[in-house]
Amino acid sequence: MNTLFDKIWDAHVVKTLESGSQVMYIDRHFIHEVTSPQAFAGLEARGLPLFRKEKIVATADHNVPTKNQHLPIQEKLSRHQVDTLIENCDKHGLELYGLGHEYQGIVHVIGPELGITKPGMTIVCGDSHTSTHGAFGCVAFGIGTSQIEQVMATQCLIQPKPKTMRITVDGELQKGVLSKDIILYIISKLTTGGGTGYFVEYAGSAIRSLSMEARMTICNMSIEMGARGGIIAPDDVTFAYIKGRKFAPKDDAYEAAVAHWRTLKSDEDAVFDKEYHFKAEDIEPMLTYGTNPGMGIRISENIPTFAGAENAKNLKKSLNYMALEAGGSLIGKQVNYVFIGSCTNSRIEDLRLVANFVKGKRKADNVNVMVVPGSKQVEAQAKREGLDKILLEAGFELREPGCSACLGMNEDKIPAGEYCVSTSNRNFEGRQGPGARTILASPLTAAATAVAGKIVDVRFLIE
Ligand code: SF4
Repeated sequence: MNTLFDKIWDAHVVKTLESGSQVMYIDRHFIHEVTSPQAFAGLEARGLPLFRKEKIVATADHNVPTKNQHLPIQEKLSRHQVDTLIENCDKHGLELYGLGHEYQGIVHVIGPELGITKPGMTIVCGDSHTSTHGAFGCVAFGIGTSQIEQVMATQCLIQPKPKTMRITVDGELQKGVLSKDIILYIISKLTTGGGTGYFVEYAGSAIRSLSMEARMTICNMSIEMGARGGIIAPDDVTFAYIKGRKFAPKDDAYEAAVAHWRTLKSDEDAVFDKEYHFKAEDIEPMLTYGTNPGMGIRISENIPTFAGAENAKNLKKSLNYMALEAGGSLIGKQVNYVFIGSCTNSRIEDLRLVANFVKGKRKADNVNVMVVPGSKQVEAQAKREGLDKILLEAGFELREPGCSACLGMNEDKIPAGEYCVSTSNRNFEGRQGPGARTILASPLTAAATAVAGKIVDVRFLIE
């Protein structure tokens, strides 16, 4: 009667401490330029080497420019961060998927696409959206700087075991509704604190019907409801995705791995600490109106009024920042910026969906559209498929890979006071740049907004 999460977690416990916390073995450690420098410095201060450097995968993503990546980075802080990562990797003999490398990209995009992320693993990274990898049936979660140092020095991590939650979504999605809408809908119901203390397994026919890219979008945003991570049991869709990838097991080793991966699922009689059930048919294209990802509505709904709000003060503050009216609709709202990218929605399937929608169309004159592939591999694939030409003909700007306007940490920022319909995962105040107003949405809603110049219901624009 074990859950999938329990099975993977328990298989990685090295020791249980008196406090109840457990020492866990970590199979894979992803690092990037933002959270690794202090950990490397701490390691050096103690005179410790990397314990298992072959378990570390390094890339540059947060601080990289998405234009002219062949030139030196202009922004001083970004250049310093990336240079420090290069130095640290050189010093410790780590291979780095840095700027110019064919495998460079957002850490949560490159792991899966290179076949590094595999079912049954424990995976950590100094980044909260490490939950993305859970789509493959992994226990994957973000860690802080001192924990990065701990994993670098020991390949283990001390952790209290989270409780388990299962969220089941059954039924068939409406046309124009994507996995991004599923997760925004769930967070709007559970709120940003609804998952705190839990590790969430997603189940049900609507989840099973999703591609791996779409499953990654769901697990990616688990963290936005406070959960430690998200996980989906691996199945034939997972095995087919992994097969043939650069670091995936080959031939007999692949067959043996699949035989093991098939055992990775919750038992029929597994008991979860908490359960939620949703119907896929109830979900519409989703939009956020406020300043956290839980402040979301179905596109046909109006922004809540203060009278019905649980926390009217917060709602007022958020709507003030967003310059939106309580009780109003977002449909028809003029938007001057659209960002399609981030570790939530920058994979090849996202770019295909967007290109397919905009083919033969043109963006509205008032909108600036940035499409930022999640990795060099995604960028190359998009070019092979001619998606770059379709996007350029539609007036969409195709950038080079990186985190880009997901966060105001590099050169790609949304100007103060401007609205941006964004496929990223966070709409906090100033997340996309000081004063920027973020409306989270799916790639299809973002593409439709770019073409219309205002927010529209994409369900009425597709066959
Ligand atoms: S794309 Fe955004 S959320 Fe994802 S790793 Fe980069 S900064 Fe973090």
